[in-house]
Order: sequence, then structure tokens, then C-alpha cells
Amino acid sequence: MKRPYNFSAGPAAIPEPVLQQAAADMLSWQGSGMGVMEMSHRGKEFMAIYAQAEADLRELLTVPSHFRILFMQGGGLAENAIVPMNLSRGLVTDFVVTGSWSFKSYTEAGKYCTAHVAATSSPECTTLPSPTTWQLSQSPSYVHICTNETIHGVEVHELPDLKTLGCDTPLVIDFSSHVASRPVDWSRVGLAFGGAQKNLGPAGLTLVIVREDLLGHALRECPSAFDYKIVADNQSMYNTPPTWAIYVAGLTFQWLKAQTEGNQTGVAAMNIRNKAKAQLLYDYIDSSQLYVNKVAHDCRSRMNVPFFLRDESRNEAFLSGAKENGLLQLKGHKSVGGMRASIYNAMPLAGVQALVDYMRKFEAAS
Ligand SMILES: *Cc1c(COP(=O)(O)O)cnc(C)c1O
Repeated sequence: MKRPYNFSAGPAAIPEPVLQQAAADMLSWQGSGMGVMEMSHRGKEFMAIYAQAEADLRELLTVPSHFRILFMQGGGLAENAIVPMNLSRGLVTDFVVTGSWSFKSYTEAGKYCTAHVAATSSPECTTLPSPTTWQLSQSPSYVHICTNETIHGVEVHELPDLKTLGCDTPLVIDFSSHVASRPVDWSRVGLAFGGAQKNLGPAGLTLVIVREDLLGHALRECPSAFDYKIVADNQSMYNTPPTWAIYVAGLTFQWLKAQTEGNQTGVAAMNIRNKAKAQLLYDYIDSSQLYVNKVAHDCRSRMNVPFFLRDESRNEAFLSGAKENGLLQLKGHKSVGGMRASIYNAMPLAGVQALVDYMRKFEAAS
């Protein structure tokens, strides 16, 4: 069976070989007689799955040894509270507000510390403020940015170097919706977090990668299960981790490691492929009379491409025709309207080509 192309923003498409492997292992993982969901998280079978997933992720993202990888729960939204509970020490924190997600992070953090807006983007969130214009506090406990605004389709293509801005403080990045789509410069990052359901696997798993020296400063009221030091000291097994989600994410890491483009593999290969996919779609949108993307060219997301029909009365016809052509979940987020094509790692170039072909046909029929 040929499955349709799925453009959901999240939970999102998972590579087909990963789903097939998960299905094959459903009743009995590697001859163990147990499905992964039925295993003790402390048994040798799951411990092996866990260790492999962590090692593969460390290799894929080239995470340095002085960073800890934590597999947590609660999603990106819980991290909006968990990060300030662990890193703020109740002091001042700085936020760059560039869309819905960083705005949510900023408002939630205010419950735990003094959250300060250092910069905002244009009202429609179609540009990014240059780091040289940020109004950073005297000595914030950290600076938070969302490196890919999933709803507005705005991506930070180069991480800011806070040291060159005269700020020797950790940079916190919410990379939920583009993790593993491109390499990360860890020399500029203190902590990165992201939900798994966009680019890594099923919902229920939250990835946190944190510099070791930032552990151990949680506020008294921080729940133990969310205290990064306790989680790190217990190899993410202080309480029962989301075992199934970790296992499927682990299969995705194996799939990622096997991907190649030119002479690159893994995340470097995905970076090349993702640039090509995004360029194909943006180039077509920019050349068309019917569709428009309003985001400034230097910060267009390679993962989430929002676009509008200049004739909005045709939205429903566009979506139903897309579905008939095997192109699913293209409806834009309700807060911005229009359409959105999320083209994460699991979306092949052929899927983007199929979308462009359909858009062209639909435009010609207008
Ligand atoms: C999806 C998303 C979140 C929220 O994740 P939940 O798992 O729903 O809590 C946070 N930040 C960004 C950038 C996202 O794309």
C-alpha cells in the first residue's frame, strides 16, 4: 500500500521503515516474547534499547561529553516551567519573543522568575530581530529563544553567540520542531529542549540536552521528577520513562544514521535534503500568482512552511483536492489561518514535489 504524504505539524509523519520495524516488534521484541510496552524499564532488554538510543542521538547531534541527554515527559509546554524552575534561581531571565511558542515560554516563566522581554519580532512574526538589537538584562540567569517557530514558520538559521553580545550566560533553545534537521553548534548552547512528536517519534517523550554545570540549582518547589540533576543522576529513570516513545525514537535515530546525501550521512545529510525540500516549495510559492508566504527570506523555516491563497474563498477546495491527491493535513494553524506544509525529516523530496505539482495544477485550474 502506498501511503499518502502527511504534512502534519505534529504529531507528524514518522519514517515508514520505523513504523514497519515497530509493527514487526509489537508482539515480541527480538525474540524476547515481550512487546517493548510490556517490558520493565529496568530490565536488561529495555536498558539496552535505552543505551543504544542515547548513544545514537549523541552521535547524530554530536553532543559533547559535558552535556547530559535527558529523556523526560510533559512536552515543550512543561519545559516552559521546568527550565525556569531549574535554571533561573528565581532571578531575571531574558526572552526573545518571535512567535506563539516563545511567547508561551515567556508568560509561563513569569510564574517562577522575573521574565523580561529582550526583543520581539514584527507584529505578524514574519521577521527576526537581529541579536545586536536585543536589550539584554544586566546579568540574566539565561536567555531563551525558540529556534523554529512552528506556527509562524520562522527559523533562526544561525544560533546567536551570547558572548559576543557581552552576555556570559546560558542560551536556552526550544528546538522542538527542527531538532535533528540540521547540526547544532553546542558551543553556543546551555540547554536545548524539544518534544519528540515533530521530528523524532511519537508524542510523550521530551528531549532535554543540558550542560552539566547547569545541573543542581533547581528551586525548592521543583518536582523531583522534573529536577534535571535528579533525572540526570538516575539516567532518566527516576520515575518510569516513556518507554515506547523512547524505543520508537531510537528506531528513528537508526534510520537517520542510515540516511545519506552526497558524501554526508545522518543529520548533515538531512540538512542538505531539508534545504533542497524547502527551496523547492518556497521557489514555487514565490513564482506563483495564487500562493504567498509572508516570512522574510533570511528566516524562513525549512520545516514549517505557512502559505496563503490570495483568494481565501478557495481554501476548502484546495484542502479537499489535496486530500484526493494523497496530501494530508495541510490546513494552517487556527491562529494564523491559510495553509501550512510541515516538511520534517520524514517527508521525502518526492512528497514536496507531489505537493508542488498539486499546487500548480490547482492554480492552473483557477
Ligand atoms: C509543538 C511545540 C511545543 C509544544 O510541545 P507540547 O509537546 O505540545 O508541549 C513547544 N515549542 C515548539 C516550538 C513546538 O513546535
